[in-house]
Amino acid sequence: MSTAAVPSFDPCDPVAVAQALIRCPSVTPEDGGALGVLEAALAPLGFVCHRLRFEEEGTAPVDNLYARLGTEGPNFCFAGHTDVVPPGELKGWSIDPFAAEIHNGRLYGRGAVDMKGAIAAFVAAAARHVKAGGAPKGSISLLITGDEEGVAINGTRKVLDWLQAKGETLDACVVGEPTNPKALGDMIKIGRRGSMTAFLTVHGAQGHVAYPHLADNPLPRLARMLAAITAEPLDAGTPHFQPSNLELTTIDVGNPAHNVIPAQGKATLNIRFNDLHTADTLLAWLRERLDGVGGSYDLDHFVSGDSFLTPPGPLTGLVADAAERVTGRRPEYSTTGGTSDARFIKNFCPVVEFGLVGQTMHKVDEHTALDDLTRLTDIYGEVLRNVFDRIG
Ligand SMILES: [Zn+2]
Repeated sequence: MSTAAVPSFDPCDPVAVAQALIRCPSVTPEDGGALGVLEAALAPLGFVCHRLRFEEEGTAPVDNLYARLGTEGPNFCFAGHTDVVPPGELKGWSIDPFAAEIHNGRLYGRGAVDMKGAIAAFVAAAARHVKAGGAPKGSISLLITGDEEGVAINGTRKVLDWLQAKGETLDACVVGEPTNPKALGDMIKIGRRGSMTAFLTVHGAQGHVAYPHLADNPLPRLARMLAAITAEPLDAGTPHFQPSNLELTTIDVGNPAHNVIPAQGKATLNIRFNDLHTADTLLAWLRERLDGVGGSYDLDHFVSGDSFLTPPGPLTGLVADAAERVTGRRPEYSTTGGTSDARFIKNFCPVVEFGLVGQTMHKVDEHTALDDLTRLTDIYGEVLRNVFDRIG
C-alpha cells in the first residue's frame, strides 16, 4: 500500500500523529496517505490491520482501515474518518491547510478538529496503554473510513458489513467527532436526530393566463400544501431530543413568462426528526396533509439516517467519568447537531461520540489547542483503562 513515504513519529505523541495525518491531503475521497500513517503507528503495537477498499458503480473508490489489537472480547472500538472537507478559498487561510504548523499553542490545519486530532489522540492513548500494560484484557480496535464527509457509501457502512460477514463483533464504540461546543468536557453525543429530504412536485396543466378555464394552475395547491405541512410543529421534543423540525429549502417553478400558467411547481424540504418518528411515519404524515389539499402530486425522498439514542448507561457513564476526571467538567448528554457515522454503528453496538472542540470545524484556519489534544489523549486513555471492567 502507500506506506513507503510515511515519516517516522512517536505514536505516543498525539501532536506528532496529528501533524503526520494533517500533512496527508485526504480530501474526500482521496486517502492522501493518511491510512498509511495509521498503519505505521498501529502495526508495531500489535494491531492487525486490514485495508478495505470499496467501490460501487457511479461512486469513487474509497480506502478504509480496520485495525484490531487482541482476539478476546469485549471488543472496544474507536471509530472515525481521515477524510476532510476541502480547504475552500486558500486565500482565506492564514496558514497552509496541510502544513500542520503550530502557533501560539495551537495546531492548525484542515482536519485538526474534524477529526484527525481525535484519531491521533486515540492512537496515542492506545500506544501508551500498550506500552504501560501490555495487551488489553479484551480487544481494542479502530474503524477508520475515508468517506464520512462525502456520500458515505463506500465507508463505515461497508466496513460494518465486512465485519459482520467475518463474524467480527463490536461491543462498544466511541466516535471521535468534535462534540464539544466551547470547551473540552462540554458535551457527549448520545444519539442523533434523523434526517430526511423530500421532493414535492405538484402537477397541473399549462395554459394562457387569460384563459384559466383551459388550464389548471398547480401553484395555489403547492402554496396550500406548503402551508399545511408548516402549520404546526411535528412534536414538542422528547426527554433526550429537541423538537423535530421541518424546513422548506427551496420552492421552484422556473417560469420565465408572465402570461403562462405553469404545468408544475416544486418544493424541497428537509426534516430533522427525533425518536418519535421514522422516515415511514413522516412520509405518512406528509401525505395525509398533501392529500388534504388534493390534486396530482409526486413525493420523492431520501433518508440520510434514522434517529437513534444510546440511553444513559455503562458506555455513556464510562466516557463522562473519564472526561470529568481529566477536565473537571461533567459533560452534558446531547442529541443535537448533524448526522455522523454513528448512525450506521448504532445497529451493531452501543455508540457515543466524544472528541475535540468543534468551533473551527469546516472553517478556514481550522485548529485545535495542543492542550486539548493532550487532555483528549488522557480521556481516551482513561476510557481504555476502565472499559473492560465496565463494558462486558
Ligand atoms: Zn467529522
